[in-house]
Amino acid sequence: MKSKYIDFKQNKTYEELKAPAEAIKEGKLVLFPTETVYGIGADALNETAVKKIYVAKGRASDNPLIAHISNIEMLEKLVENVGKIEKKLIEKFWPGPLTIVFKKKKIVPDIITGGLDTVAIRMPSNIIARKLIQYSNCPIAAPSANISGKPSGTLVEDIIEELDGKVEYIIDSGKVEIGVESTVVRVVDNVVHILRPGKITKEDIEKMGIKVYIEKQILGEYKEGEKVMSPGIKYKHYAPNTKCILVYSKDNEKMVEEIKRLSKGRNVVLLSKNQNIEKYNIQNKLNMGETLEEISQNIFTLLRKADKYNADIIIIEGVEKEGLGLAIMNRLIRACAHEFIEI
Ligand code: AMP
Ligand code: MG
Repeated sequence: MKSKYIDFKQNKTYEELKAPAEAIKEGKLVLFPTETVYGIGADALNETAVKKIYVAKGRASDNPLIAHISNIEMLEKLVENVGKIEKKLIEKFWPGPLTIVFKKKKIVPDIITGGLDTVAIRMPSNIIARKLIQYSNCPIAAPSANISGKPSGTLVEDIIEELDGKVEYIIDSGKVEIGVESTVVRVVDNVVHILRPGKITKEDIEKMGIKVYIEKQILGEYKEGEKVMSPGIKYKHYAPNTKCILVYSKDNEKMVEEIKRLSKGRNVVLLSKNQNIEKYNIQNKLNMGETLEEISQNIFTLLRKADKYNADIIIIEGVEKEGLGLAIMNRLIRACAHEFIEI
């Protein structure tokens, strides 16, 4: 059966969200937008419903989900305690693209936490997401809308083929605002540990006078058996079917030269920044945009587009690993399965 499609790109009223909210209450799945990427949502407190998410995505059962909430009362129902630093982060960044890991209360089923005693929570700023949670009257567990391992969904056109029929409703509001998933943090001994980089950066948190530590595994390769702060780190992510290589140098011209050299005589698709795209004499070029904001918005949709060329290789220009650039490079390094040339 095909999913029911709601086109929110036309000026719809929030009344339209009542039917998908009913579906959530009945333990069904709904694909909906957030400001970061699209999510596949289910009632976070309904084990059977949450199981359906894992099946729809083919997601490993020990990779926990984020519970999305629409108000602070929901948070209090789910977590044991909100510490001083967490309170500051909430005041500054919620609603928004920041996920915080807390000690969970018993009411939170093991299935959404992958058996951990902690739960990851976010209050999204996207109004459709928040209204859907409010009308469903429950926290919504929602991972990114994509088959596990593939690039996340930032446009419904990109994911409809792989997810149509697997969810009850698809709510389409066009391109998402940010394009990379939320920053995930956990506070340990008054230090904010970044478990996954996103739009809220290390620098944003440091500006509040809070110490920040970036988990080493964010850019490094996970080694079998290694201890992880965030189970997501262990899994293959964001990868097109075509082999990808990421190339970066602080010296822009060096990077361009290296890409020219690598692409010689090969059937290549190039993902290039707007400011470099005219420098390449390559037939298949896709423009990532100019600023980090544009690049983060475009990156997942372009990885999927590049895959359609059936090229031998996708070559991707890297960006500086600072600010939002760290989130972009974290996704790209994984998309390339750590095939990363840095000169
Ligand atoms: P996604 O659902 O695709 O946005 O991925 C959610 C991310 O949050 C994954 O990288 C998870 O490992 C991470 N995450 C979720 N819950 C927890 C938790 N309790 N502790 C640490 N990381 C978590
Ligand atoms: Mg994901």
